[in-house]
Amino acid sequence: MMRAKPSILLSRAKTIRMKKLTLIPDAENPIKLLDLKFTPAKKWAAGIPAVVAALSDVLEEGIPIRGVRALFTMNQKGGFDCSSCAWPDPDDERSPIGEYCENGAKALAEEATTKKVTAKFFAENSVVDLAGLTDFEIGRKGRLAEPMYLPKGGTHYMPISWDDAFKKIAGHLNGLDSPDEAAFYTSGRTSNETSFLYQLFAKEFGTNNMPDCSNMCHETSGTALLPTIGIGKGTVKLDDFYDTDVIVIIGHNPGTNAPRMMSALEKGKKNGAKIIAINPLPEAGLMGFRNPQEINGILGKGTHYSDLFMPVKINGDMALLKAMELLLFEEEKKAPGAVFDQDFIRDKTVGFEAYAEQFAGYDLEQLAAAAGITVDQIREAVEILAPAKRIIFAWGMGLTQQPNGVEMIREIVNILLLKGSIGKPGAGVCPVRGHSNVQGNRTMLINEKPTPAQLDKLQEVFGFNPPRNHGYDVVGAIKAMDEGKVKVFFGMGGNFLSATPDTTFTANAMRKLRLSVHVSTKLNRSHLVHGEEALILPTLSRSDIDLVNGVHQFISTENSMGVVQSSKGILKPVSDQMMNETHIVCNMAMATLGDRSVVNWKAYADDYDGIRDAIEQCIPGFENYNYRVRQKGGFYLPNAAREGKFITEKYKDRAPFTITAVPDNTLGPDEYMMATTRTHDQFNTTIYGLEDRYRGIKNERRVVFMNQKDMDRQGFKAKDKVDLFNFDDGKVRIAPLFVVVPYDIPERNTVTYFPETNVLVSINNVVGESNMPASKYVKIQIRKHEPEPVAADLR
Ligand code: SF4
Repeated sequence: MMRAKPSILLSRAKTIRMKKLTLIPDAENPIKLLDLKFTPAKKWAAGIPAVVAALSDVLEEGIPIRGVRALFTMNQKGGFDCSSCAWPDPDDERSPIGEYCENGAKALAEEATTKKVTAKFFAENSVVDLAGLTDFEIGRKGRLAEPMYLPKGGTHYMPISWDDAFKKIAGHLNGLDSPDEAAFYTSGRTSNETSFLYQLFAKEFGTNNMPDCSNMCHETSGTALLPTIGIGKGTVKLDDFYDTDVIVIIGHNPGTNAPRMMSALEKGKKNGAKIIAINPLPEAGLMGFRNPQEINGILGKGTHYSDLFMPVKINGDMALLKAMELLLFEEEKKAPGAVFDQDFIRDKTVGFEAYAEQFAGYDLEQLAAAAGITVDQIREAVEILAPAKRIIFAWGMGLTQQPNGVEMIREIVNILLLKGSIGKPGAGVCPVRGHSNVQGNRTMLINEKPTPAQLDKLQEVFGFNPPRNHGYDVVGAIKAMDEGKVKVFFGMGGNFLSATPDTTFTANAMRKLRLSVHVSTKLNRSHLVHGEEALILPTLSRSDIDLVNGVHQFISTENSMGVVQSSKGILKPVSDQMMNETHIVCNMAMATLGDRSVVNWKAYADDYDGIRDAIEQCIPGFENYNYRVRQKGGFYLPNAAREGKFITEKYKDRAPFTITAVPDNTLGPDEYMMATTRTHDQFNTTIYGLEDRYRGIKNERRVVFMNQKDMDRQGFKAKDKVDLFNFDDGKVRIAPLFVVVPYDIPERNTVTYFPETNVLVSINNVVGESNMPASKYVKIQIRKHEPEPVAADLR
């Protein structure tokens, strides 16, 4: 099929706009821009403003005692786990004045609130009314307090009993022509215990359609690491950050996305580590930290920790990594054995010669130009890396959401293999996971591609024959919904619509479902763009007390560094109509499978220890689970790569060097490369406020950061209103009415906030091998806003 030219498409855009952009709000709910204010970006993160922000959220929710009590229990040994990011807690003593950050406090304030969304609220507000609210407004409504049902053609959700809700789900699931017409999504909040039962149910029901939030954040990391170092997880512990030579942070913004990582960076820096930060934006959290728990952080200047900041172009990282390697080879040539760990290369790797040969074909100047970094800066980085014996590379979605993210992470592994800097203390890889138990979900077999060994084990332990075909991941599930191949969607947490790409396409796909079900703590956009029938099932959050038969239960989670620990809520739930996720799975399984099940679901619902025993039987590394998870601080899962053993499927006991390519990122004359990001007042799709404090943005989310030279070339001034266009696959995607903000960003690069610009990310714009949406590599055009009323895709 011929691709239509963007210019032709653009002229057509106006006429098809109303048809294409059917997502809420529409012409009746037009976008109303707020009064954007912006100031210069900050040069350091945290400090007093973070403390004030953390406490003010708790106070704003009107829960000073409940909220503060919970804050001091969060992330403490024997307390409950923060449901926000997956950054680990210290192994040894934890701070008595709090092991939480501003973002953790915001997440807690929203779940500890005593505000409730009840049947009365839904009776007073139609789905269309609610869809007209912003995500920020929707999130502030409070905790979902009772199960709700939207009948076919209904305008308002109405109450439903739990029994009837499970009957509806069972009726729909059992009415499918094939189990593969259902998809079971998991968000990173779900505990180990629930995740294990949930995948067990899906498999006994007969499908591996288990899309999960990993498919949008670190699938790329797992895909890159498994065949190279033998495990799809990070290898470092928190203590490794404290005693290392160099920490390279690439494509990650710790100040907003894992704020307590900054304490680890500060400690490492104070102990002599050098820090190199690689990112298109000079994020405050990459530059300096004012530790709110130290006098110097409150009254002094804090710690300036980046020794070198490299403002790489979007997707220029591969060229930069290759340029650094090229120079490392030159240094090694001058003094063999002084730069590379030759013993390590000989004993623990494979493929060095072929890998080394490629560098004869690279030119330093060209690589530097492709990266957008000066040769001098690259030399500076190599001066830091060459003598280092212990290097940690930490990355986030700045790498994993690039089309060549898998290759870039393998290139990082190449550098670490050259240096023998993996599999020993103070060295290794650290993919910084985004959501609290996203890593644990995977360990619990939430995976659309379970291995034969995993399935054999389940069959041996439970006695049913699990499906062997691969299921749908997130992108696959959306396409299957669109094609009518998936008819029932069950979301265990999360906000699927807002988290996923190509919003209009995804919304239309979800509207084709016969039934959409969401297990949630709060109202979100995905409840408002639904199937023919829809259910909202209210559940407990981490901080809520989970009482089963009068016994106060705990669940367990796994953090970014492979520590499994218990989590026990302390707050009285605001409604007795909430059901814990484990019971929801067991009840769904009993209602759906009835006598044809060979699993004792009732027993698991009543006995979390029993679930952990089953996990121990099925998943390596969980020996003596019930005992070890009760030890304060939990236990580490086995990680052979951490011990220097690289047990890969292909090479058995060696880590392979990988030969990768430098991409061609040429842009058309009117094109910009856009990366989506989140604000500091946001965790994933949850919007806590309208500020992005570190970047100096206040009171508006529909902003596009541009280099001043690009603005001059296009004739834009600060605060000009523009529309953003993407033309991938010969389609027109429009995100209307954004405000231009001049920013310190490489030329021809732009950054916008998600989920507002997810609408511009084609469903086919994915990362090679991992099939994740490449949301940080979106080619767009920016045009002056047309003043006619337009429908908005999402706000
Ligand atoms: S760093 Fe992450 S896990 Fe820790 S309190 Fe903050 S948001 Fe929660």
